[in-house]
Amino acid sequence: MSNAPQTPTAAQGIVIEEPLLFELGSPGRKGYSLSQSPHPGTEINHLLPPDEIREEIEGMPELSELDVVRHFTRLSQWNFSVDANFYPLGSCTMKYNPKLNEDMVRLSGFAEHHPHTPETKSQGSLQLMFELQEFLKEISGMDHVTLQPAAGAQGEMTGILLIHAYLLSKGNPRKKILMPDSAHGTNPASSALCGYHVVQIPSNDQGLIDPAQIDRLMDEDTAAIMLTNPNTLGMFEQDILKITEIVHKRGGLVYGDGANLNALMGITRIGDMGIDLLHFNLHKTFSTPHGGGGPGAGPVGAKKIFEPFLPTPVIEKFEGGFRINRDRPQSIGKVKNFFGNFGMLVRAYTYIRSLGPGGIRRISEMAVLNANYIKAELKDHFHLPYPGPSLHEVVFNDREQLKSDVKTTDIAKTLIDFGYHPPTIYFPLIVKGALMIEPTESESKETLDQFIATMKTIAGLARSEPGEFARRPLKSKVSRPDEAAAARKPKLRWTTS
Ligand SMILES: *Cc1c(COP(=O)(O)O)cnc(C)c1O
Repeated sequence: MSNAPQTPTAAQGIVIEEPLLFELGSPGRKGYSLSQSPHPGTEINHLLPPDEIREEIEGMPELSELDVVRHFTRLSQWNFSVDANFYPLGSCTMKYNPKLNEDMVRLSGFAEHHPHTPETKSQGSLQLMFELQEFLKEISGMDHVTLQPAAGAQGEMTGILLIHAYLLSKGNPRKKILMPDSAHGTNPASSALCGYHVVQIPSNDQGLIDPAQIDRLMDEDTAAIMLTNPNTLGMFEQDILKITEIVHKRGGLVYGDGANLNALMGITRIGDMGIDLLHFNLHKTFSTPHGGGGPGAGPVGAKKIFEPFLPTPVIEKFEGGFRINRDRPQSIGKVKNFFGNFGMLVRAYTYIRSLGPGGIRRISEMAVLNANYIKAELKDHFHLPYPGPSLHEVVFNDREQLKSDVKTTDIAKTLIDFGYHPPTIYFPLIVKGALMIEPTESESKETLDQFIATMKTIAGLARSEPGEFARRPLKSKVSRPDEAAAARKPKLRWTTS
């Protein structure tokens, strides 16, 4: 690593060994100290019946407050986050989440607002949700938006249920859904979950959908086509108008996966391309936390024809303010409790309001510029399987590095040694050994330059010291876990045995 650039960001310094909480502490140590109550009769055995009072739990760790705080603070420092460093995870849009969003969602009027509060006392929250729907409609060119779904994948399921409900109301829900071979895995999963058979569309040699394929595959049994634009290679589907026209002429519908909306905002509108339904990933495009599996939000935009079927409740504006409409006999029902993940809606609303229309457009311009800068700087060092024009992300592969037996995984793991989160790898599936880089608009030119220099260093090391790569990362807590075993047989419980 002698020729590694001096990055202040590289993971280095002390490596803290951290035992489990169960291995810390000592018998009798407590996390609290309460003085004796001056009021007689307030001891626990006066307040609760004996069978409600818990005995000691065998094997529970006994710790001080400081033991617990240090334990979790140390563990938190092993995490990689966008607040700490560059996170070019392609397709996931790991942009910076402004702290203003957090200030707004903590306002007590929002944070302490119970979802069962009567409508008349919920006007502020209802107005926020209504206006967020309006903003998303304007950005996407859709006629309606439901804010309920909790993630992109759940938005997809909601969209397919809407397609099913609409086609059923016309007499035949049909059986199949078409999707390109570059689709995100959630697309076929959502379709199958709703009972549809998935038909794959092969991409052409430029990585795009050929309308001739749609013409060949689209039949009376096909309910819809599901596509991502720009697609998962970051490339704009040039023939989108021809594609949506063919599908509509044969009675089908078009679902748009909106995960890549960061490339288009304020420049073009998905709804104007003949797309009938679209999900927004608020945790990607609209700067809400991705949450480590926690709450996200995947609102769905829909054209007029889907209005009767939208999930309940629907938030409406009337002369007296805002109201919740639950009387919707044709609705597909609820897809999430109450109004969805409300905290995410407040954050996304704040983000949109703080940027305004010009700022929203600027996001996409900068996201595309940043990705193309990386593409231009690295194209002589890493192979570009689809060299055509691309937007907010760029997909390289390991063809050059394989000559010295260095694979995509090895390149990704080496980035960890340099202090970067690896890009998305081995996706989309149509690219062998894919390395998918999405810098987002958040990053400065200095950060991009440093990352580019690191990638060039890695390309150099792959030629000069290829043998080292199989052991990398060398500086992280854990180097090469068995990822398949970790996913298939996770150990989720601590046991004394
Ligand atoms: C992230 C993503 C999804 C799924 O969205 P979640 O919010 O993670 O459920 C679907 N399609 C594409 C292209 C994505 O990048």
